[in-house]
Amino acid sequence: QAKNAGKNQYQAFDKLSAIKQNRKLKLVNQLHHAIANNEFSLVYQPIVRLVDGVTVGSEALLRWTNPDNEAIGPDEFIPIAEHSGQIIDIGNWVLQQACEQCKAWHEAGATHHAMAINVSSHQLKDQHFAQRLEDILARLSLPAECIHVEVTENIAIMEEQACVTSLYRLSELGVQLLLDDFGTGYSCLSYLKNLPFDVLKIDKSFMPANNTIATTIIAMGHELDMEVVAEGIETDICYAMLQKLNCQYGQGYLFQKPVPASEFDIYKHYKCSDPEAVE
Ligand code: C2E
Ligand code: MG
Ligand code: MG
Ligand code: MG
Repeated sequence: QAKNAGKNQYQAFDKLSAIKQNRKLKLVNQLHHAIANNEFSLVYQPIVRLVDGVTVGSEALLRWTNPDNEAIGPDEFIPIAEHSGQIIDIGNWVLQQACEQCKAWHEAGATHHAMAINVSSHQLKDQHFAQRLEDILARLSLPAECIHVEVTENIAIMEEQACVTSLYRLSELGVQLLLDDFGTGYSCLSYLKNLPFDVLKIDKSFMPANNTIATTIIAMGHELDMEVVAEGIETDICYAMLQKLNCQYGQGYLFQKPVPASEFDIYKHYKCSDPEAVE
């Protein structure tokens, strides 16, 4: 009896992993045509200066609707594209689109709007990455300071020389470097000393901000002269807490969900509606 149950479980597991494998293969095949078929789009979420609620920039987030009309989340397809190597072409598309949008907003009057772009560590291994960004900026005559590159920590890759070289080239260009999802990986604190990161981005899993980890990361950022952005702000209480901890910037559903460029308000102020919430 027990032996049979084990066998059935094993077969069920086997079947499940086969289904997952099939889905991955399908997505890899579909991703090959996604750029040409115009299946990608970017949505933008405001980055808010917490002290006064001013929109100082946005984060570009990739969206994909596949030919089956399914919306596939980046958490599912980015790792697949990294594994297949498709992340290079996809990442270049994102870079181009996000820089063009930043330029358009500058021309519309938000001349200091900063565009945060997620870049996979696999893209940083590509020796041409920094040059490509430099070319795009030159073509658009967009100042490098307006581009914020967000990299999620990945020890194995970030220790590779090619990756380190790209980070330094970007930093020399004047691009701001953000360490995304800080605290979720096997954070190696020597990154902060040895790599040219300017900003720490606290992962949303550490919100609300009365959490010891968020508090510690903010204090550490201050100590290291790095600015800190909090992601995943969903409540006024959380906003007020972060303000009290002198966290400089934040983003989250409390302010605005990611929206298409046409729905984005570059001038919006997001005041804390209940600044006494923490008292
Ligand atoms: P991320 O860079 O950490 O982005 C933040 C994620 O949190 C986004 O999910 C955003 O929609 C979500 N979010 C924002 N505010 C809130 C909030 O208040 N509450 C909650 N629960 N979530 C919030 P999204 O758009 O699904 O992206 C997931 C991840 O996919 C990103 O995490 C990033 O690592 C990756 N990604 C997205 N776009 C790109 C891209 O163009 N290139 C690369 N390489 N990765 C991307
Ligand atoms: Mg990010
Ligand atoms: Mg993040
Ligand atoms: Mg995150």
